[in-house]
Amino acid sequence: MSKCIIPPGKSQGQEQIETFQVSESNNFTKILLLDFEGDIILHTKEIFMNRFEKISNRIDFFRDEMINMQIKLCSIPAISPLSGGEGEAKKAEILINFLNKNGFQDIDIIKAPDLDVPVGYRPNILAIYKGKNSSKTIWIMTHMDVVPAGELSLWRGNPFKAWIEEGKIYGRGVEDNQQDMVASLYTLKAFQSEEIKPNYDVGIALFADEETGSEKGIQYVLQNSNPFRKKDLIIVPDAGNSEGTMIEVAEKSILWLKFTTLGKQAHGSTPEKGVNSFKVASFLITEFNKLYETFNEKDQLFDPPISTFEPTKKEPNVPNINTIPGEDVFYMDSRILPKYTIEEVEAKIKQITDKIEKTFNVKINYEEVQKTSVVQPTSPEAPVVQALKRAVKKIYKKEAKPTGIGGGTVAALFRRENFEASCWSKIDETAHQPNEYCIIDNMIGDARVFAHIFLQD
Ligand SMILES: [Zn+2]
Repeated sequence: MSKCIIPPGKSQGQEQIETFQVSESNNFTKILLLDFEGDIILHTKEIFMNRFEKISNRIDFFRDEMINMQIKLCSIPAISPLSGGEGEAKKAEILINFLNKNGFQDIDIIKAPDLDVPVGYRPNILAIYKGKNSSKTIWIMTHMDVVPAGELSLWRGNPFKAWIEEGKIYGRGVEDNQQDMVASLYTLKAFQSEEIKPNYDVGIALFADEETGSEKGIQYVLQNSNPFRKKDLIIVPDAGNSEGTMIEVAEKSILWLKFTTLGKQAHGSTPEKGVNSFKVASFLITEFNKLYETFNEKDQLFDPPISTFEPTKKEPNVPNINTIPGEDVFYMDSRILPKYTIEEVEAKIKQITDKIEKTFNVKINYEEVQKTSVVQPTSPEAPVVQALKRAVKKIYKKEAKPTGIGGGTVAALFRRENFEASCWSKIDETAHQPNEYCIIDNMIGDARVFAHIFLQD
């Protein structure tokens, strides 16, 4: 704080503490408390926090409304047609209604054509909540779609009829991604109720199709509308940890491969007449473990700090025990640190596969199921990261750390277009699981984090 400006009629050395407005700058009113020497004893930062406190209390006041909104959104399963659902249109209606009622402007619905859903499109919603300054926008991006419930017998209740137990809301989608969708919406409702403007425009992006590849969601928006500017802060609260300390800034490359081992079927009693494809595939998998030794460098930005190479999905082979399987199919999921290229890894995989083919005299085919090369990470110094760090420190009293993860967040799609995006939220990572839950205090806390960011300079 620089020198205090003494308004007319006031002088230094007054015996009483005076409160008065000095100037309007940095997007908020500076109020100074002076002691009798004329020294500033309370400066703008603390006053800023008072504005923050107002919003914070208002968010608390909305607690029950936020829970009800969660229950309402959960009752509409916005499932992708690829997973047997009808898409996001009905859920979008509720959200658009909310935006219309609560002071949002420029509400834009970008419809990605999709003939597999009743309405023929997948809705992507963009809305602006006007701040004092429109030179940049702080975006909070969440997704409307949810994954199917999965095995119903594993749920303690109806996954689409959310219920409350000990400070948690249970139901499909309540954490992924409704927790922070509801948090961001009610943060702005709190601004409206308190008649306080955010320092900059706030953008709310509610996207479709995140769970099945984002082609009809963020990818479609980036290609057909692109409302984002390079200066904007893009926060994607769709990854995090239970402490709220993980700010995701980088991802590993992803390589998914499908391996088909072609042996020869035979009777279980005469294995010598066939070639056991399952056994050969098992040797192959064991050899693949050596990839950990070949690509063994570490990068402490990432959690875990190594590249990983894991056999995952296994397709059924023969239905009976007494047949030597002639064909075996398994998949491998590799997450590769940026210091290695996917091509280097693929070359090593080919070498290992060739060796096993020769040793066992079989044919092993493999194909790429997904191959996503790493993109330039968001700088740990980027404004979006710094804003999150400040807010997390204030709300959760923790030091958040820029972290690289195994991949698969939509922030990477923004990074590919050279936007500095970051994933952050405080979650228990129950997404896609039976009995998915949202800790209500996390929903409230994350709303406060957003409020803090909206009030930062
Ligand atoms: Zn998600």
